Amino acid sequence: MAERKAREDRVITDIRDQAKTESQRKSAARSKRIVAIILWILAIGCEVAAVILFKKLVVLWPCLLALIVDAILCIVAAQFWKKANHIDPPAGKFWQNQFGAFMAVLAFAPFILILLTSKDVDPKFKKILTVVAALCLVASVGLSIDYNPVTIDDLDEAELNALGYGGECYWAKYSKSYHFDPDCPTLLRSKEVFHGTIEQAFEEGRTDPCDFCAGGKEQKENGGE
Ligand SMILES: [Zn+2]
Repeated sequence: MAERKAREDRVITDIRDQAKTESQRKSAARSKRIVAIILWILAIGCEVAAVILFKKLVVLWPCLLALIVDAILCIVAAQFWKKANHIDPPAGKFWQNQFGAFMAVLAFAPFILILLTSKDVDPKFKKILTVVAALCLVASVGLSIDYNPVTIDDLDEAELNALGYGGECYWAKYSKSYHFDPDCPTLLRSKEVFHGTIEQAFEEGRTDPCDFCAGGKEQKENGGE
């Protein structure tokens, strides 16, 4: 079984003692959602400021600055939102997982519309602002989408499957998958492997059951995806 031998310098980091209880997870998720909502409110505030600023445009940079701060706030807010959804997954609703992308559109599209329909703006300023706002929109939406969305059903199913393994699993540093077998062939190449509860794996974004040792293949076949 030479090919199944793990690399000798492999380190398994046990983080089970950092596992949160269900109520701790719910309250951690709630705090992150509140932070996200506050940041989005501030982002919309920046958008409103940007509209007021370009209406009274004498110099360009305050308006550009408002747009960039708007984008940063949106992107940071969405990271909190996504993290909260991984700690405490929503009930299968698309909009709740992708709410960050929706907020990013809301934080730029109205500005762009107002800008494009305004006639009393210097064409050169208008061009620069349109380009910057469009770039901010694309960056914010791109970084706000949850490319690895999970629902409460995904977590329930994973918890059920993990029962036979004491509710615990393993994952590598750079991968979306969780594994029940620490010697799974796909884990053997990894230098650093983490050992934690299934909830911790979800929290860390490991939401995909391994095809070899966690029934991922069967789930994908049954789920039709
Ligand atoms: Zn595996």
